[in-house]
This record gives sequence, C-alpha cells and structure tokens, in this order.
Amino acid sequence: MPPTDLPTAVGDAPTLASRRLDDLPERVARSRPADGDDAIDVFAPATGERIGRVPACDADDVAAAVERARDAQAEWAETPAAERARVVDRFGDLVADRRETLLDLLQLETGKSRRTAVEELFDVPTGCAYVASEAPDALAEERRRGVAPGITTATVTREPVGVVGVISPWNYPLTLSMADAIPALAAGNAVVLKPDEKTPFGALLLSELLEVAGLPADLFQVVTGEGPRVGPPLIDAVDYVAFTGSTATGRTIAERAGRNLIGCSLELGGNNPLVVLGDADVEEAARGAVQACFSNAGQLCLSAERIYVVESAYDAFLDAFVRETEAVTLGTGYDYDADLGSLVDADQLARVESHVEDARERGATVETGGRARPDVGPSCYEPTILTGVEPDATVACEETFGPVAAVTPVPDADAAIAAANDSPYGLNASVWTADRERGAEIAREIDCGTVNVNDAFLATWGANDAPMGGFGDSGLGRRHGPEGIRRYTETRTVGVSRVGPLTFPDRIPTDWFVRGAFAAMGVGRRASRAVDAVRRRFSRP
Ligand code: NAD
Repeated sequence: MPPTDLPTAVGDAPTLASRRLDDLPERVARSRPADGDDAIDVFAPATGERIGRVPACDADDVAAAVERARDAQAEWAETPAAERARVVDRFGDLVADRRETLLDLLQLETGKSRRTAVEELFDVPTGCAYVASEAPDALAEERRRGVAPGITTATVTREPVGVVGVISPWNYPLTLSMADAIPALAAGNAVVLKPDEKTPFGALLLSELLEVAGLPADLFQVVTGEGPRVGPPLIDAVDYVAFTGSTATGRTIAERAGRNLIGCSLELGGNNPLVVLGDADVEEAARGAVQACFSNAGQLCLSAERIYVVESAYDAFLDAFVRETEAVTLGTGYDYDADLGSLVDADQLARVESHVEDARERGATVETGGRARPDVGPSCYEPTILTGVEPDATVACEETFGPVAAVTPVPDADAAIAAANDSPYGLNASVWTADRERGAEIAREIDCGTVNVNDAFLATWGANDAPMGGFGDSGLGRRHGPEGIRRYTETRTVGVSRVGPLTFPDRIPTDWFVRGAFAAMGVGRRASRAVDAVRRRFSRP
C-alpha cells in the first residue's frame, strides 16, 4: 500500500481534503458511476487490486463536455496572454507543492517506481514554467515584410483554434496529458482531455489543481472511457486534436482529423536506436544504455530498443551493459529503493514475453533477464539484454515497449547510421562517443526527431525550448518550443496598403508599367539577397 492514506483519501490541499479516489470521477463529464452504471474498473498494476471506477463516457457525454468547454473558451480567449501565463505558472507551483500525493497516485495507477514517478512529475512544473515564460512572446503580434518597403504593411496575429482535444496514453499519464494541454490553454483554448482508461485518476486530480490555480470553471474537461468509444466523437467535436499513443491508433486519428479538416499533432511509437562508436567511454555508455532502455520498465516512447556497437568496443560495452543491468533493482514499493517498477498490465507483460520468445526461437541469446517476476508483482519483468537477434525478429522491427534491448555489433560508424535508419520509425536516438563534435555530425545523419549525444533522452526531451516529435511512422507535428504553443493557433495576416489599391495604374501605359514592375522586382530581389547574406553572415552561431 502507498504510504499516504491513498486510495481512501487523495490530497492535502483544502479542495482535495478528505477526497476519496472513487470521488474523483465527479470531475468527469458525467458524474461518478453508481453500481450498475456503465463504468470502467481501474486496477493497480503493482498488486492487481481494483483501486476505483470511472464512468464509461459516450458520445453524448463528449458532446456535453465540448459544449461546456466551448462556452468557457470565449472569455478565456479575451484574457491577456500574460494573465493566462500566470495561471499556468501557479498550476506548476501547485503540482510541485502537492508532489507527494501526486507521486503516490502516479505509482498507484501506473505501477512505476518512485524514481521514475519523480522524473515524470518533475516534467510538469518545468514545462509549465517554460510555457508561462514563452507563451506571451510566441503568441505576440508580428510584423512581416510587406509587398515592398513603404507600400504595404503585413501584420500577423494568432488566434486560439477554440477547443483542443487531448488524447493521452497510460505510460506517462501526467506529463503526456499536460505537455499538450498546458500550451493549448496558454494559447487561449479550452481543452477536453481523454486520459487512458488505465490511468484516469492523475488527470482528474490535475484538473482540480488547475481550478485551484485560477483556471475558469469548465475550461478544462475530462472525459473518461474506452478510446474507440470516446475518441471519434471527441475528434468530431473539437477544433484540433493532440494525440499521444500507438502508431496504429494515430493513423485512425489522422484519418478522422483529415476528414474534419482540423489540425492534429501525433506523437507515436518508436523503435529507437542507440549507437556506440569505437572511441566511446564504454562504462558511461553502458550506464546511459541502462537509462535509455529500462527507464519506466522500457514503457517510454523514447526508449532505446536497438543498440548498435562498433566492433572494437563491442565486447567491453556488452560486459559493462550486462553488469550495470544486473545491478538494476526491481520492486513495487513507495520508496526510492527500486530502480524499476511493474509493467502496466498482463497484456503488456504478454507482449514483452512474446517478443523475447520470438527472438529466442530465432536463435538469439539472452545475456541477462528474460523472465517474468511474479514474486515481485503480477506484471513485473526483468530488464533483458539480447544478442544475436535476427533482423526480422519482432524485437528488431517492432516496438516492444518493455525492458528489452537487442545489442548488435557493426563494422563502423557508417554501418551504425545505416542500421539506425533502417526503420519506418524515427522518434529518438542516442549516440555515444568521446568526440562530441563527431557525435553531433553523426546525429545529423540519423532520421529521428530528437538525437542525443552522450545522453539517453533527457538532453532533448528536457530542452523545453526545442521542438520534439517524430519522423516517419513516429508521428506528425511537434510539441515543446514555440512550435508546441503555436500549433494551437490560427494565424491571421492583415495587410494594409499605404497607396490605395495595388493594381495596374490608369495613367501609365500597361507595357511600360509591366517592364517597370519587373525591373523594380529585379532590383528588389538583388537588394533583399544582399541584406539576407549580411544577416546570415552575422547571425551564424
Ligand atoms: P493507444 O494508441 O492504444 O492508446 C493511446 C490513447 O488513445 C488512449 O487514451 C486510448 O484510450 C486512446 N485510443 C485508443 N483507441 C482509440 C481510437 N480508436 N480513437 C481515439 N482514441 C483511441 O496507445 P498505447 O498502446 O496505450 O500506448 C503506448 C503507445 O504510445 C506506444 O506505441 C508508445 O510509443 C506511444 N507513445 C508515444 C509517445 C510520443 O511522445 N511519441 C509518448 C508516449 C507513448
């Protein structure tokens, strides 16, 4: 059991006092399910116990939630960006203040270790701090070049799209809900969040904290329920959808958003490569690989699953990686003792077991791990290293989303780059070398949205000012950075003429005018090329 009095009482803030976990669904579009209502049971992965129930919302619940959100959004859109940013900032502070309660709840509903829960929770206030400081500038009116100097002006304003639907997964339920919802709110939108049915309680608790922070009532709605039942009516009713989840579901989301002609961002799966060059510090690379492959028991979209090591470093790296992996501790406690927690449920465990079994049957060697640990928890699995994995084995081609890494020797850096890029996915990669400049050059040749040199994933994920997202089957659009805020806006360009209508003048013969206009355009283009060259010369990093 968690150390606080969860699951019977959640929270210590005045508004959360004496809350029971089963009361939190009152935050949902439809109120708390009574016995016999259409409801979803939620289980604790670490023990298999039922911890609560949430309503199984339907299309009517979704429509009502979106309507309420839309009504609240009109006033919020008129609230100055700096004031909206202050609400976001206060929310970040509240999350930091309530961290013990949130950590307990996060562990309870995901089964992750306390260490991983801290990594996740830390992300929410740091993301809020970034959005609060960046949003007013990212959303500010901008002057752009007009038709020609002195003739017209062009001004771009950014308007919120309206209501944003956020559909989030179970693996990082707080971070991945808020990384999309907070910038949407800061940009003046309402948000209707559909958390994963396995992990609804963290999102519900955060919805309370948003209101405590000063977010107007109804602006942030939560609809709980099964994806195929709640997702489609949500996409049909909102003005933008931000989805995080599997590539298969992402395709159905994109199709529906396309039919409705609304924007979408899709943060999808990966089968991420980690490259160790011949000059790498193998001890450091091995510690990095443990973090890259086994954080959150490998249930992390940025996790490395394919490791390519240049032959000269292979034996030393494999020895160090196996040693470091065998030192990893597995547990389900609410303290900091265990490095790794449980997988999320029996389905996820079965998927991991089947991928390892498939590799074994095709001749792979299990260097360490390779078995479930029911003695620790019903869905626990040991961190596992495989070698001799055939290129067509499931672990080599598909996302396992578990604590399993396949290590393969390659002759040189070029072969490592080719192997890394031999995948339809392109989410995250990691390169290990003693030569940071060469590492950065190699990073530019890897077809992934984020590439970390001498780090697993935090160098890019933690850089809130830099965009994050996937190439290829790993998704569309970017979160983080100004891009992550502006995706939730429509631009409006206002052009003003200082000389009246821009048309053929009456008093100049047409052929003279056309000749003059092209000559002026030639001069203008040469002048702007010269100005651009000077600007580039002086803005080079
Ligand atoms: P999933 O696609 O099954 O579910 C994700 C969310 O979509 C859940 O809320 C689910 O209820 C909902 N959903 C399911 N079917 C739906 C439908 N037809 N319409 C609308 N919504 C629907 O994903 P999962 O397997 O539970 O999550 C793990 C996957 O998420 C992995 O592939 C992982 O790589 C990916 N992921 C990606 C990122 C990223 O940032 N790129 C982050 C975390 C997880």
